[in-house]
Amino acid sequence: MAKEYKVLINGEWVSASTGETMKVINPATGEVVGLAPKCGPAEVDMAVAAASKAAPGWAAKTMAERSKLLLKLSQLVMSHQEELAKLETMEHGSPIRKTMNFDVPLCAEQLEYFAGVARALTGETLPVGPWCMSMTVREPLGVVGLITPWNFPALMVVWKLGAALVTGNTCVVKPPSTAPLTALKLGELAVEAGAPAGVVNVLTGPGESVGEALVQHPQVAKIGFTGDTSTGKRIMGLASGTVKPVGLELGGKNAFIVLAEADVDSAVEGAIFGAFFNTGQVCAAASRFYIHESLYNEFAEKLVSAAKQLKYGDTMKMETVIGPVAYQAHRDKIESYIAGAKKAGAKLLLGGERPNTPETKNGFFVPPTIFGNCTNDMQIMREEIFGPVVGLARFQTPEEAVALANDTKYGLSASVWTKDTRAGLALAGQIKAGTVWVNEHLIIFCETPWGGCKESGWGKDLSTMVLEEYTYTKHIYVDLTGAPAKPWYALLK
Ligand code: NDP
Repeated sequence: MAKEYKVLINGEWVSASTGETMKVINPATGEVVGLAPKCGPAEVDMAVAAASKAAPGWAAKTMAERSKLLLKLSQLVMSHQEELAKLETMEHGSPIRKTMNFDVPLCAEQLEYFAGVARALTGETLPVGPWCMSMTVREPLGVVGLITPWNFPALMVVWKLGAALVTGNTCVVKPPSTAPLTALKLGELAVEAGAPAGVVNVLTGPGESVGEALVQHPQVAKIGFTGDTSTGKRIMGLASGTVKPVGLELGGKNAFIVLAEADVDSAVEGAIFGAFFNTGQVCAAASRFYIHESLYNEFAEKLVSAAKQLKYGDTMKMETVIGPVAYQAHRDKIESYIAGAKKAGAKLLLGGERPNTPETKNGFFVPPTIFGNCTNDMQIMREEIFGPVVGLARFQTPEEAVALANDTKYGLSASVWTKDTRAGLALAGQIKAGTVWVNEHLIIFCETPWGGCKESGWGKDLSTMVLEEYTYTKHIYVDLTGAPAKPWYALLK
């Protein structure tokens, strides 16, 4: 019998008022690994009330005090590394090799980063005149709603929770229904680290009820959202009712451009990581490849041969590097993109068939799949697939590569591969995206801002810029003259 979990409201662990639960399924095996409360608007009201009550006290703490909580949480994350890693592997299907060595240590590192960088937050004094002191201060927003996706279940919570907490906000976290268990564990660790009751609340339940109630709640000051572009659009609309700011980290359809001067071997290495890390379920995954025609055949051959080496299967084995995709309906959607690409005339170079080994037969596996001879009008080159499926196309001139890369509604990221750094930089300047890497794809640091443009959203996670996302600027003006009447009062006399 799978474990039944509870949600965190006001420092207490409670079930949904209806008693209903949602099944959490291990996508590698199809087994039910937990039952999460199916909360609704009633629990949103309770959590927001708790967070509102806790907000003045939390905002009144010094930055140093809040920073220490994050440092303690970071230590607790590492002392629970194995437990968190296994939980994430079970609920999301990421191989244990990745959750142990990447997700959990990175969560701890990012909490440390937020703890440190927030202490450098400053305001300004503005030299408007000798008769006054004019200054800006940054203040917490109040209660923030953090709605996160399933592709990095723990990390996406930490990105938002760390920044929001350290800047003095209280939080209601709404993790994805398919993978909510690591978020609940992070809530437990936040309480253990010393978060006062109501400062961190974690609610599981459907986006359409819990998520929408949070977005529309008049006492929620901001929504930090990472997820699908269509959901982001809906959230933007709903948030307008209370004129609430929303941070939107949405989808991407990321170009990978290999110029004629590229080092093919290193571009292939980068392509393997960029396209297949996390089974391609990365908003910034390389998915549209534009290869200079002089290198196309060599690049395609080497990419196929490197992708063949990627081991998929039992996610609890350290040698497995690729897991299943996150849930059955997502696997089916990816397979329909594969069928569509075949029908549209793309040439299947690798993969495309559901594997049926003893280790994969009950899970939702899609093997690394590569299509050649693609054109920009094909669906696989236009829509976010969010799986291990890529399309390769040829170009002749750098201008053509830029035009192809920019021919998308998305603007999250892109990469340019070349030994000519000047040419790489020139292209980086012409591509409309939140991040452009030269001779790299998918590397993200705590220190570097993350977020897109166009239909990939707005606002930034990570870096010092995220501190602005979770505070607002107040201007304070103090008269220093002590004079009863100022020259401008004459305007009304
Ligand atoms: P979804 O938009 O389906 O879900 C994201 C979160 O929103 C989940 O918690 C979901 O809850 C919730 N939600 C769903 N519907 C609503 C609603 N109507 N109102 C409020 N909340 C709602 O995205 P996925 O989980 O499928 O994540 C994949 C997407 O995330 C991809 O498009 C990817 O590109 C994007 N992404 C973007 C990143 C970036 O930085 N730009 C980073 C990572 C992912 P529930 O699970 O209950 O439906």
